[in-house]
Amino acid sequence: MKKLSVIVPCFNEEESIPYFYEEIKKVTNSMNVKLELIFVDDGSRDKTLEVVKKLTEDKVVKYISFSRNFGKEAAMYAGLNMCTGDYVTIMDADLQHPPELLPEMLRIIEEENYDCVATKSINKKGYSFFRKIFTRCFYKIIEKMSNTKMVPGANDYRLMTRQMVNSIISVKEYNRYSKGIFSFVGYKTKWIEFEVQERKAGTTKWNFWKLFSYALDGIVGFSTAPLTLSAIIGLFFCIVSFIMIIVIIIKTLIFGDPTSGWPSLVCIIFFVSGVQLFCIGVIGEYLAKIYLEVKGRPIYIVKESNVDKK
Ligand code: UDP
Ligand code: MG
Repeated sequence: MKKLSVIVPCFNEEESIPYFYEEIKKVTNSMNVKLELIFVDDGSRDKTLEVVKKLTEDKVVKYISFSRNFGKEAAMYAGLNMCTGDYVTIMDADLQHPPELLPEMLRIIEEENYDCVATKSINKKGYSFFRKIFTRCFYKIIEKMSNTKMVPGANDYRLMTRQMVNSIISVKEYNRYSKGIFSFVGYKTKWIEFEVQERKAGTTKWNFWKLFSYALDGIVGFSTAPLTLSAIIGLFFCIVSFIMIIVIIIKTLIFGDPTSGWPSLVCIIFFVSGVQLFCIGVIGEYLAKIYLEVKGRPIYIVKESNVDKK
Protein backbone atom coordinates (compact mmCIF):
# COMPACT_ATOMS: atom_id res chain seq x y z
CA MET A 1 0.00 0.00 0.00
CA LYS A 2 1.29 3.48 -0.91
CA LYS A 3 1.92 6.06 1.78
CA LEU A 4 0.31 9.50 1.68
CA SER A 5 1.93 12.35 3.62
CA VAL A 6 -0.28 15.30 4.50
CA ILE A 7 1.65 18.39 5.56
CA VAL A 8 -0.22 21.01 7.54
CA PRO A 9 1.50 24.33 8.36
CA CYS A 10 -0.06 25.71 11.54
CA PHE A 11 0.33 29.14 13.04
CA ASN A 12 -2.06 29.79 15.94
CA GLU A 13 -4.58 27.22 14.71
CA GLU A 14 -5.75 25.70 18.02
CA GLU A 15 -9.39 26.12 16.98
CA SER A 16 -9.11 24.71 13.46
CA ILE A 17 -6.93 21.66 14.06
CA PRO A 18 -9.59 19.40 15.67
CA TYR A 19 -11.98 20.01 12.75
CA PHE A 20 -9.20 19.45 10.27
CA TYR A 21 -8.12 16.19 11.90
CA GLU A 22 -11.64 14.84 11.89
CA GLU A 23 -12.19 15.70 8.21
CA ILE A 24 -8.87 14.39 6.93
CA LYS A 25 -9.31 11.12 8.81
CA LYS A 26 -12.76 10.69 7.35
CA VAL A 27 -11.53 11.21 3.79
CA THR A 28 -8.33 9.17 4.00
CA ASN A 29 -10.04 6.24 5.73
CA SER A 30 -12.00 5.70 2.54
CA MET A 31 -8.82 5.81 0.45
CA ASN A 32 -6.51 2.91 -0.18
CA VAL A 33 -3.42 4.55 1.36
CA LYS A 34 -1.37 4.56 4.51
CA LEU A 35 -1.60 8.00 6.10
CA GLU A 36 1.16 10.16 7.58
CA LEU A 37 -0.15 13.42 9.02
CA ILE A 38 2.53 16.02 9.75
CA PHE A 39 1.58 19.16 11.65
CA VAL A 40 4.23 21.85 11.43
CA ASP A 41 3.81 24.25 14.33
CA ASP A 42 5.27 27.49 13.00
CA GLY A 43 6.06 29.08 16.36
CA SER A 44 2.44 29.39 17.45
CA ARG A 45 1.71 31.46 20.52
CA ASP A 46 -1.53 29.70 21.40
CA LYS A 47 -2.23 26.06 22.33
CA THR A 48 -1.57 24.67 18.84
CA LEU A 49 1.33 22.49 19.98
CA GLU A 50 -0.63 21.05 22.91
CA VAL A 51 -3.57 20.27 20.66
CA VAL A 52 -1.30 18.54 18.16
CA LYS A 53 0.54 16.60 20.86
CA LYS A 54 -2.76 15.28 22.13
CA LEU A 55 -3.49 14.00 18.63
CA THR A 56 -0.23 12.01 18.57
CA GLU A 57 -2.08 9.26 20.44
CA ASP A 58 -3.00 8.39 16.89
CA LYS A 59 0.28 6.95 15.59
CA VAL A 60 -0.11 8.50 12.13
CA VAL A 61 0.21 12.01 13.58
CA LYS A 62 3.68 13.55 13.57
CA TYR A 63 4.65 17.06 14.58
CA ILE A 64 7.49 19.47 14.06
CA SER A 65 7.63 22.57 16.23
CA PHE A 66 9.73 25.60 15.30
CA SER A 67 11.69 27.74 17.74
CA ARG A 68 9.83 30.81 16.43
CA ASN A 69 7.53 31.88 13.60
CA PHE A 70 9.47 31.29 10.39
CA GLY A 71 6.53 31.76 8.00
CA LYS A 72 4.38 29.38 6.00
CA GLU A 73 7.07 28.84 3.38
CA ALA A 74 9.52 27.54 5.98
CA ALA A 75 6.80 25.34 7.47
CA MET A 76 6.02 23.79 4.10
CA TYR A 77 9.70 23.20 3.44
CA ALA A 78 10.20 21.54 6.82
CA GLY A 79 7.23 19.27 6.18
CA LEU A 80 8.46 18.31 2.72
CA ASN A 81 11.91 17.67 4.15
CA MET A 82 10.71 15.37 6.92
CA CYS A 83 7.89 13.48 5.23
CA THR A 84 8.33 9.93 3.99
CA GLY A 85 5.27 9.37 1.82
CA ASP A 86 5.15 8.18 -1.79
CA TYR A 87 2.62 10.93 -2.37
CA VAL A 88 2.72 14.22 -0.57
CA THR A 89 0.15 16.96 -0.16
CA ILE A 90 0.21 20.34 1.56
CA MET A 91 -2.99 21.65 3.13
CA ASP A 92 -4.04 24.65 5.21
CA ALA A 93 -5.32 23.88 8.69
CA ASP A 94 -8.44 26.00 8.26
CA LEU A 95 -10.21 23.58 5.87
CA GLN A 96 -10.22 26.16 3.07
CA HIS A 97 -8.54 23.42 1.08
CA PRO A 98 -11.22 20.70 0.88
CA PRO A 99 -9.88 17.20 1.72
CA GLU A 100 -12.70 15.74 -0.38
CA LEU A 101 -10.61 16.46 -3.47
CA LEU A 102 -7.86 14.06 -2.40
CA PRO A 103 -9.31 10.77 -3.76
CA GLU A 104 -9.78 12.36 -7.18
CA MET A 105 -6.30 13.91 -7.10
CA LEU A 106 -4.77 10.57 -6.20
CA ARG A 107 -6.68 8.85 -8.97
CA ILE A 108 -5.36 11.37 -11.54
CA ILE A 109 -1.75 10.80 -10.47
CA GLU A 110 -2.07 7.02 -10.41
CA GLU A 111 -4.17 6.49 -13.52
CA GLU A 112 -3.47 9.44 -15.78
CA ASN A 113 0.25 9.41 -15.24
CA TYR A 114 0.73 12.94 -13.86
CA ASP A 115 3.47 13.94 -11.40
CA CYS A 116 1.38 16.54 -9.70
CA VAL A 117 -2.21 17.66 -9.32
CA ALA A 118 -2.44 21.33 -8.35
CA THR A 119 -5.49 23.30 -7.34
CA LYS A 120 -6.73 26.67 -8.40
CA SER A 121 -9.54 28.51 -6.65
CA ILE A 122 -12.23 29.95 -8.87
CA ASN A 123 -13.55 32.32 -6.21
CA LYS A 124 -12.01 34.15 -3.29
CA LYS A 125 -14.68 33.67 -0.69
CA GLY A 126 -13.65 34.83 2.74
CA TYR A 127 -11.04 37.26 1.43
CA SER A 128 -11.34 41.04 1.56
CA PHE A 129 -12.04 43.15 -1.53
CA PHE A 130 -8.71 44.90 -1.11
CA ARG A 131 -6.84 41.61 -1.01
CA LYS A 132 -8.54 40.36 -4.20
CA ILE A 133 -7.43 43.49 -6.10
CA PHE A 134 -3.94 43.29 -4.66
CA THR A 135 -3.61 39.63 -5.67
CA ARG A 136 -4.78 40.33 -9.20
CA CYS A 137 -2.24 43.17 -9.64
CA PHE A 138 0.52 40.96 -8.32
CA TYR A 139 -0.14 38.24 -10.89
CA LYS A 140 -0.27 40.83 -13.69
CA ILE A 141 3.13 42.20 -12.66
CA ILE A 142 4.84 38.86 -12.12
CA GLU A 143 3.55 37.57 -15.44
CA LYS A 144 5.32 40.41 -17.24
CA MET A 145 8.52 40.19 -15.25
CA SER A 146 9.34 36.55 -14.74
CA ASN A 147 10.19 33.68 -17.01
CA THR A 148 8.77 31.24 -14.48
CA LYS A 149 5.07 30.87 -15.16
CA MET A 150 2.76 31.44 -12.23
CA VAL A 151 -0.91 30.59 -12.47
CA PRO A 152 -3.35 33.19 -11.04
CA GLY A 153 -5.49 31.72 -8.28
CA ALA A 154 -3.03 28.89 -7.69
CA ASN A 155 -2.93 27.45 -4.18
CA ASP A 156 -0.24 25.65 -2.26
CA TYR A 157 -2.71 22.76 -2.00
CA ARG A 158 -1.39 20.09 -4.33
CA LEU A 159 -0.62 16.40 -4.45
CA MET A 160 2.87 15.46 -5.64
CA THR A 161 4.91 12.36 -6.24
CA ARG A 162 8.01 11.57 -4.21
CA GLN A 163 10.19 12.40 -7.20
CA MET A 164 8.79 15.92 -7.47
CA VAL A 165 9.06 16.47 -3.71
CA ASN A 166 12.73 15.48 -3.83
CA SER A 167 13.28 18.05 -6.55
CA ILE A 168 11.56 20.74 -4.49
CA ILE A 169 13.67 20.07 -1.40
CA SER A 170 16.78 20.23 -3.56
CA VAL A 171 15.93 23.89 -4.17
CA LYS A 172 17.44 25.24 -0.99
CA GLU A 173 17.12 29.01 -1.38
CA TYR A 174 16.39 30.99 1.74
CA ASN A 175 13.83 33.46 0.38
CA ARG A 176 11.34 30.85 -0.68
CA TYR A 177 8.36 31.44 -2.89
CA SER A 178 6.74 28.07 -3.40
CA LYS A 179 4.43 28.97 -6.26
CA GLY A 180 7.54 29.88 -8.21
CA ILE A 181 9.49 26.84 -7.04
CA PHE A 182 6.68 24.43 -8.01
CA SER A 183 6.74 25.92 -11.47
CA PHE A 184 10.54 26.03 -11.60
CA VAL A 185 10.98 22.29 -10.95
CA GLY A 186 8.62 21.48 -13.79
CA TYR A 187 6.99 18.01 -14.04
CA LYS A 188 3.66 17.16 -15.57
CA THR A 189 0.99 19.04 -13.65
CA LYS A 190 -2.77 18.85 -13.94
CA TRP A 191 -4.82 21.79 -12.69
CA ILE A 192 -8.17 21.27 -11.06
CA GLU A 193 -10.51 23.97 -9.83
CA PHE A 194 -12.49 24.27 -6.64
CA GLU A 195 -14.50 26.80 -4.68
CA VAL A 196 -12.84 28.19 -1.59
CA GLN A 197 -14.93 27.92 1.55
CA GLU A 198 -14.91 30.31 4.48
CA ARG A 199 -12.33 29.61 7.15
CA LYS A 200 -13.62 26.93 9.55
CA ALA A 201 -12.37 28.68 12.69
CA GLY A 202 -9.88 31.32 13.77
CA THR A 203 -8.76 34.23 11.61
CA THR A 204 -6.41 34.72 8.68
CA LYS A 205 -2.73 34.85 9.60
CA TRP A 206 -1.77 37.23 6.83
CA ASN A 207 -1.95 40.96 7.32
CA PHE A 208 -1.29 43.49 4.57
CA TRP A 209 2.44 43.86 5.21
CA LYS A 210 3.07 40.14 5.49
CA LEU A 211 1.30 39.64 2.17
CA PHE A 212 3.10 42.58 0.61
CA SER A 213 6.55 41.34 1.56
CA TYR A 214 5.56 37.85 0.38
CA ALA A 215 4.68 39.34 -3.00
CA LEU A 216 8.06 41.09 -3.07
CA ASP A 217 9.76 37.75 -2.31
CA GLY A 218 7.95 36.35 -5.32
CA ILE A 219 9.11 39.14 -7.60
CA VAL A 220 12.69 39.41 -6.40
CA GLY A 221 13.10 35.64 -6.19
CA PHE A 222 11.93 34.94 -9.70
CA SER A 223 12.78 38.04 -11.69
CA THR A 224 15.71 40.39 -12.11
CA ALA A 225 13.60 42.75 -14.23
CA PRO A 226 13.48 45.52 -11.58
CA LEU A 227 17.26 45.81 -11.74
CA THR A 228 17.26 46.11 -15.49
CA LEU A 229 14.44 48.62 -15.20
CA SER A 230 16.47 50.85 -12.86
CA ALA A 231 19.38 50.79 -15.28
CA ILE A 232 17.04 51.78 -18.11
CA ILE A 233 15.54 54.62 -16.06
CA GLY A 234 19.05 55.86 -15.28
CA LEU A 235 19.96 55.80 -18.94
CA PHE A 236 16.77 57.67 -19.78
CA PHE A 237 17.67 60.43 -17.31
CA CYS A 238 21.15 60.71 -18.81
CA ILE A 239 19.69 61.22 -22.27
CA VAL A 240 17.12 63.76 -21.02
CA SER A 241 19.78 65.74 -19.19
CA PHE A 242 22.00 65.70 -22.27
CA ILE A 243 19.20 67.13 -24.41
CA MET A 244 18.45 69.73 -21.73
CA ILE A 245 22.08 70.80 -21.62
CA ILE A 246 22.05 71.45 -25.34
CA VAL A 247 18.69 73.27 -25.22
CA ILE A 248 19.82 75.47 -22.32
CA ILE A 249 23.16 76.29 -23.97
CA ILE A 250 21.43 77.36 -27.19
CA LYS A 251 18.76 79.31 -25.27
CA THR A 252 21.42 81.12 -23.24
CA LEU A 253 23.39 81.99 -26.38
CA ILE A 254 20.30 83.44 -28.09
CA PHE A 255 18.36 85.05 -25.20
CA GLY A 256 21.11 85.60 -22.62
CA ASP A 257 21.06 84.39 -19.01
CA PRO A 258 18.68 86.54 -16.87
CA THR A 259 18.89 84.39 -13.68
CA SER A 260 22.54 83.56 -13.61
CA GLY A 261 23.54 80.11 -12.32
CA TRP A 262 20.12 78.48 -12.68
CA PRO A 263 20.65 76.62 -16.00
CA SER A 264 23.97 75.08 -15.06
CA LEU A 265 22.61 74.02 -11.68
CA VAL A 266 19.64 72.21 -13.22
CA CYS A 267 21.90 70.50 -15.74
CA ILE A 268 24.23 69.26 -13.05
CA ILE A 269 21.41 67.97 -10.85
CA PHE A 270 19.76 66.10 -13.69
CA PHE A 271 22.96 64.67 -15.03
CA VAL A 272 24.40 63.53 -11.73
CA SER A 273 21.17 61.92 -10.52
CA GLY A 274 20.82 60.12 -13.85
CA VAL A 275 24.32 58.75 -13.66
CA GLN A 276 23.78 57.70 -10.05
CA LEU A 277 20.63 55.74 -10.80
CA PHE A 278 22.32 54.11 -13.73
CA CYS A 279 25.30 53.04 -11.66
CA ILE A 280 23.10 51.72 -8.86
CA GLY A 281 21.25 49.69 -11.48
CA VAL A 282 24.48 48.22 -12.78
CA ILE A 283 25.76 47.37 -9.30
CA GLY A 284 22.34 45.87 -8.61
CA GLU A 285 22.75 43.50 -11.53
CA TYR A 286 25.84 42.07 -9.91
CA LEU A 287 24.39 42.17 -6.43
CA ALA A 288 21.41 40.13 -7.59
CA LYS A 289 23.71 37.40 -8.84
CA ILE A 290 25.63 37.29 -5.55
CA TYR A 291 22.42 37.54 -3.54
CA LEU A 292 20.99 34.49 -5.26
CA GLU A 293 24.08 32.52 -4.31
CA VAL A 294 24.84 33.47 -0.73
CA LYS A 295 21.63 32.30 0.92
CA GLY A 296 23.30 30.13 3.52
CA ARG A 297 21.00 30.56 6.51
CA PRO A 298 18.85 27.65 7.73
CA ILE A 299 15.30 27.94 6.46
CA TYR A 300 13.82 26.82 9.78
CA ILE A 301 14.96 25.73 13.24
CA VAL A 302 13.20 22.82 14.93
CA LYS A 303 12.71 23.08 18.67
CA GLU A 304 10.98 19.76 19.17
CA SER A 305 9.52 17.02 17.04
CA ASN A 306 8.48 13.37 17.10
CA VAL A 307 9.75 12.77 13.58
CA ASP A 308 12.86 10.63 13.93
CA LYS A 309 14.07 10.88 10.36
CA LYS A 310 16.72 13.33 9.02
N1 UDP B 1 0.57 29.77 8.35
C1 UDP B 1 1.81 29.41 8.87
N2 UDP B 1 2.70 30.40 9.20
C2 UDP B 1 2.42 31.73 9.03
C3 UDP B 1 1.17 32.08 8.46
C4 UDP B 1 0.27 31.07 8.14
O1 UDP B 1 2.11 28.23 9.03
O2 UDP B 1 3.27 32.56 9.35
C5 UDP B 1 -0.41 28.71 8.01
C6 UDP B 1 -1.77 28.85 8.66
O3 UDP B 1 -1.78 28.28 9.95
C7 UDP B 1 -2.68 28.11 7.70
C8 UDP B 1 -2.01 28.37 6.36
O4 UDP B 1 -0.67 28.77 6.62
O5 UDP B 1 -2.70 26.72 7.94
C9 UDP B 1 -2.73 29.43 5.56
O6 UDP B 1 -2.93 30.57 6.36
P1 UDP B 1 -4.27 31.40 6.33
O7 UDP B 1 -5.46 30.48 6.28
O8 UDP B 1 -4.22 32.37 7.47
O9 UDP B 1 -4.11 32.16 4.97
P2 UDP B 1 -5.26 32.61 3.96
O10 UDP B 1 -6.22 31.47 3.81
O11 UDP B 1 -5.86 33.81 4.59
O12 UDP B 1 -4.50 32.90 2.71
MG1 MG C 1 -6.96 30.21 5.04
